[in-house]
Amino acid sequence: LRLRCQKCGYETPEELHFCLNCGASLIARNRYDLTLKDFAYAADLDAIQTIRTTGALAYLLKQLTVGDVDRKMASELSLAAQAVAYPSDLDAIVRDCACSLSIERLPEVYIAKSPQPNAFTFGSEEHAYLVMNSGILRALTKNELMAVIAHELGHVKSGHMMYHTIAELLGGGISFSASLVGLDMLSIPISLALLAWRRESEVTGDRASLLAVNNIDVLASLLSKLASGSSTAHPFSHGTEADVGIMDSVGELFRTHPLEVHRFKRAREFWRSQEFLRARRKIQRRQQVLRALVPDCRFCGRDKRVEDLFCPNCGKSQI
Ligand SMILES: [Zn+2]
Ligand SMILES: [Zn+2]
Ligand SMILES: [Zn+2]
Repeated sequence: LRLRCQKCGYETPEELHFCLNCGASLIARNRYDLTLKDFAYAADLDAIQTIRTTGALAYLLKQLTVGDVDRKMASELSLAAQAVAYPSDLDAIVRDCACSLSIERLPEVYIAKSPQPNAFTFGSEEHAYLVMNSGILRALTKNELMAVIAHELGHVKSGHMMYHTIAELLGGGISFSASLVGLDMLSIPISLALLAWRRESEVTGDRASLLAVNNIDVLASLLSKLASGSSTAHPFSHGTEADVGIMDSVGELFRTHPLEVHRFKRAREFWRSQEFLRARRKIQRRQQVLRALVPDCRFCGRDKRVEDLFCPNCGKSQI
């Protein structure tokens, strides 16, 4: 069965869950969808709320400077990186994670040629980019890769990317002048709040990893690989800053993440919590009824409510 995309009209085999043309979810919104409330780290949600209501930042965002940075990165990406093709193992992992986390639109996924084992997201929730360096594909197992991808999708779902970009600029991670994009407008307390939040936001990302992979050992091995890699593979360890491409200068997994030990402690707390169990149950339930979550009956074709598991017209089970 092929499902017609509500956004662009393209028809995609239903088992792919996301439009092959525009990436929009083919599963109509429903009460089984995982929401941020189900798993986001409370300190992250609070901090982002504070940052959002800060006057200077709102002014800055109006200047669309972040959009300029995103455009610059996207155009560099098209030169320096390769889009992940469908069908491929990597594409399947991304769809799988995005389905577990109830993402509304798949990000564009790219592989950048670089030995640094790194991954990051940028853009907006409506149009996100997920970039993985070739180094990370070599260094990780399939499950660890899934954990990385789910972590990044957790950022996408949380709408973190724009604030990440600003925090990267403030931290000097990107070789643009901060004053050029107007970041000198920000007062020091706001800058510090942003940099502090940047680390909190990782807790939410790691929670998304746990929910998608459902295995704490995978996160443990991933974090220990990152910890051992970070001492030798600093983004600026070779050549001058000018020699380093934008892909290496964004230190998503290395520089700005809290020490791996602390990350793991926080992740383990979530793993053992009722909140985790509830969210996992929700994911499993949605998986079980996924085939039913369509607006028309798969047998008689008549309209039905998205959450009807039986057709009100012909009475057949949709699952
Ligand atoms: Zn579409
Ligand atoms: Zn992250
Ligand atoms: Zn029917």
